Amino acid sequence: MNAANLPAREAMEFDVVIVGAGPAGLAAAIRLKQLAPDTSVVVVEKGSEVGAHILSGAVIDPIGLDRLVPEWRKEETPLGTAVTADRFYVLGSSGAVRLPNLLMPPLMNNHGNFIASLGDVCRYLAQKAEALGVEIYPGFAAAEVLFENGAVAGVATGDMGIGKDGHHKASFTRGMELRAKYTLFAEGARGSLSKMLIERFGLHQNRQPQKYGIGLKELWQVTPDNFRTGLVQHTMGWPLANNTGGGSFLYHFGDNLVSVGFVVHLNYQNPYLSPFEEFQRFKTHPLVRDTFAGGKRICYGARAITEGGWQSVPKLAFRGGALIGCAAGFMNVPRIKGSHNAILSGMLAAEHVTTALAAGRAHDELADYETAWRGSPIGHDLWRVRNAKPLWSKLGTFAGVALGGLDMWTNTIGFSFLGTLKHSKPDFATLKPAADCRPIAYPKPDGKLTFDRLSSVYLSNTNHEEDQPVHLIVRDAALQKASEHDVYAGPSARYCPAGVYEWVEEAGQPRYVINAQNCVHCKTCDIKDPNQNINWVPPEGGGGPNYPNM
Ligand SMILES: Cc1cc2nc3c(=O)[nH]c(=O)nc-3n(C[C@H](O)[C@H](O)[C@H](O)COP(=O)(O)OP(=O)(O)OC[C@H]3O[C@@H](n4cnc5c(N)ncnc54)[C@H](O)[C@@H]3O)c2cc1C
Ligand code: SF4
Repeated sequence: MNAANLPAREAMEFDVVIVGAGPAGLAAAIRLKQLAPDTSVVVVEKGSEVGAHILSGAVIDPIGLDRLVPEWRKEETPLGTAVTADRFYVLGSSGAVRLPNLLMPPLMNNHGNFIASLGDVCRYLAQKAEALGVEIYPGFAAAEVLFENGAVAGVATGDMGIGKDGHHKASFTRGMELRAKYTLFAEGARGSLSKMLIERFGLHQNRQPQKYGIGLKELWQVTPDNFRTGLVQHTMGWPLANNTGGGSFLYHFGDNLVSVGFVVHLNYQNPYLSPFEEFQRFKTHPLVRDTFAGGKRICYGARAITEGGWQSVPKLAFRGGALIGCAAGFMNVPRIKGSHNAILSGMLAAEHVTTALAAGRAHDELADYETAWRGSPIGHDLWRVRNAKPLWSKLGTFAGVALGGLDMWTNTIGFSFLGTLKHSKPDFATLKPAADCRPIAYPKPDGKLTFDRLSSVYLSNTNHEEDQPVHLIVRDAALQKASEHDVYAGPSARYCPAGVYEWVEEAGQPRYVINAQNCVHCKTCDIKDPNQNINWVPPEGGGGPNYPNM
């Protein structure tokens, strides 16, 4: 059946449609209902349930929650572990130097924060939202933006039951149109619809390019002897070279749980680098390896983060909608925190939507939201750290982080010697040709502390309907061979944390294989492919990882 013969989609009308049930989307939904209980609000979520696609550290600064749900401290919530100790180390290959807490800029201090699974926090927020009358539809990906007279007028969920080759299976059902006066995009880092809107409305004009990192995480159940409740530990340095940004996090929380993760900045240059293998290598360092002795790895996943900060936040508002949370790039990189700003931005946007609806407006630009964020706590948070990432990229880890720290100190007092530094190229443009780089020999996994990709993806509970069109669109197959393979030696096989991409030899010719069913929706390929030749689009709703508590 071709598109013209398709049955019409059913449509539903709301005041506000929200795309994504992360902290930003749920905070916006809750705030809308708190301010005007009669506002009709729907949230669509591509994960099979709320939290299924949420992956974070997470040390949570409660500034957002305190404003959104002031009663949370009196309730049973997933935020049961307060931070008790905060340590920062610089690693060499076998040693570690601890930086005294007194040297750290005050904004880096984690006392007063809580360690939790952000997925569980989202499940808690979803209950709050539903109790207020918000409709939440998990298992439905927003696949298309609806436009009316050039303004956003809602979204359509994807059609279901289409086979790999495009034929309509017996289970075929058309997507649903969710029409709204305002639509808030809360898709997180590198949202697929947000990316399209940024292009279409030129929201990135006069801004620095957005920068990204990939964060990989494992959740471990450790032995009681190795558990230190409330310990927060970060490292930088080994195993990354000085010219590759990134570092680790390790948080002890809950019932003998340790959340361990590694972030690699996606402006790395060597196409042979594998963020996954760097993470595995990190766990073997003497500072951390004993933590996992006798323990069990219970979950694995990965997700991109935004790193551009203040300089890279696009214009947020356009006719009929706005970006919130990490879709807008509100991550604070040196603090490795974004969930507080996700909540605050959801609330801020909701307040401006409520004012607009009360004035009888619809489908226009929320210009006041645009001007408000820089003067809000979100702007204050990002302004003080705005030079940390550009310095790190330009000067390398040791000099860059030292000078970045000094700049954060002076910004805390209220000034900077450096003004506002620019980022350099977008991350897809930083790879060097493989011929100019040295292959990296990574050690083999031991199956106890270090693992391979496939056994890791298994722990993400990733599941996609197999007979559906591939959701990783390679625009130009010949370019992929001529450039990604021939010039850059196939970096997708290394940067993808789920082993989705492989170049296999067939009759003496390299063939690009895409194991789309393994995709954990981290979005790294959409960001790092050197030619921007891979476009991530949502697969059938409900597909992807099923993180129980990441
Ligand atoms: C490894 C790592 C460690 C981190 N550590 C911390 C930390 O310690 N503290 C902290 O505060 N922050 C941390 N962050 C950042 C934090 O997780 C983010 O800032 C936060 O999750 C952003 O919230 P969000 O609601 O904007 O987006 P997300 O949390 O990404 O949520 C977006 C939601 O939208 C859904 N979605 C996306 N597109 C669609 C679509 N088209 N249709 C339907 N649904 C869609 C997704 O499935 C997801 O559920 C970390 C991030 C990572 C990756
Ligand atoms: S295919 Fe792309 S989005 Fe999916 S896991 Fe691999 S890099 Fe991430």
